[in-house]
Amino acid sequence: MTVGRIHALLILAWALLRTLVAPIMGTRRGLAAFRASYAKDRLPAVGAAEREDLASLSGCIACGLCDDGEGARIARSGGAYGGVMDLMLASSRSMPDYDAAARSFEAVGDDRLAELEARCPARVPMRKVKLFVLTKASELRDDGAQRAS
Ligand code: SF4
Repeated sequence: MTVGRIHALLILAWALLRTLVAPIMGTRRGLAAFRASYAKDRLPAVGAAEREDLASLSGCIACGLCDDGEGARIARSGGAYGGVMDLMLASSRSMPDYDAAARSFEAVGDDRLAELEARCPARVPMRKVKLFVLTKASELRDDGAQRAS
């Protein structure tokens, strides 16, 4: 075993020990610490209920069926909207970019998303993905406003 590998294992063991001991010692870092660490990276906290939902939001298999018929909306959006597959597969997976994803969602209403959900072979809950993105984009804006004031 190399010195570098031993060093890495010691660091990992120390991190594990700290993680296990912190709740017992009452020194566990909480939500405020998370926000202080990650707000500048535009990463909002995810609540327990949201965490449970996350797996169901990421089931897109890139079949492209939901983009069929979206050409006119894509053209009208002037580049803001690249189709529903882009929203389900890419734009909704990067929280720091949720402002752009929220603008993209403006091009496609909930009625249309409901139609497309019925067409989706992976049963991606598109309206739920939209709600998650809009909620987190709003939190990002609020965090940014708080940091600026
Ligand atoms: S129809 Fe469903 S699985 Fe296919 S690209 Fe759209 S969201 Fe993904």
